[in-house]
Amino acid sequence: MKRTPLIAGNWKMYKTGSKAVKTAEKLARLSKDINSVDIMIAPTYLSLPLVAEKLIGTNVKIGAQNMHHEKQGAYTGEVSADMIKDAKAEYVIIGHSERRQFFGETDDAIAKKIKAATQAALIPVMCIGESEKDRDENNTFSVLDKQVKNGLKDLDSEDLSTLVLAYEPIWAIGTGKTASVDQVNEVHKYLRSLMAQLFSDDFAENIRILYGGSVKPENVNELMALEDVDGALVGGASLDPEKFIKIIGFES
Ligand code: PEP
Repeated sequence: MKRTPLIAGNWKMYKTGSKAVKTAEKLARLSKDINSVDIMIAPTYLSLPLVAEKLIGTNVKIGAQNMHHEKQGAYTGEVSADMIKDAKAEYVIIGHSERRQFFGETDDAIAKKIKAATQAALIPVMCIGESEKDRDENNTFSVLDKQVKNGLKDLDSEDLSTLVLAYEPIWAIGTGKTASVDQVNEVHKYLRSLMAQLFSDDFAENIRILYGGSVKPENVNELMALEDVDGALVGGASLDPEKFIKIIGFES
């Protein structure tokens, strides 16, 4: 089965509610004839319900940037998977390197979130990636291996049937430095073979593996041409609908 590409935009802590709605509506207009690519944007929690409401019936789906693993409770400042689902989101980004780096998110916490997301029927987009130091010290594959195995522990292929993996080398996020086509190819092939080893050949064949790290209209085409790249997780370039639509169309 051919995998449908997914182009996802992570809006991080940008755009107030009215700006988010305006941008999302423009993106919905620009993408109205696109049927061969899944499109997702992840606004802030505050903008999410406003944007979701406006995008009903369009090609642009909604994701959250994070979630808490408990269903509800005394967790000040947190939001659960059910709440995200209730606000009409379909996806949730889990384990973004900024969450790991600035908020101390561990592989253990990520595993709990992935489990809770799948139980709430949200599509988890699990982010993994090595630091510059890891790469320089030739630890890229061992770091990714650990992140994947720990983050997916106690889950089987049925729980994870919708899982999306996003390979995001930390040194390429927001830096303008994209990993080379050879580096991306090597990692994505490795990740797909790891999926076969952990689950099954079928699972590995069907899972979507995105690349993230300074994706822009100028480099999306060569990345998407790789057999094992099934889409992109885009930060900066997803904030501008004119740029983002070019990425969605894989054009420079
Ligand atoms: C990201 O935030 O996941 C990301 C890849 O950001 P950027 O595209 O800006 O590098």
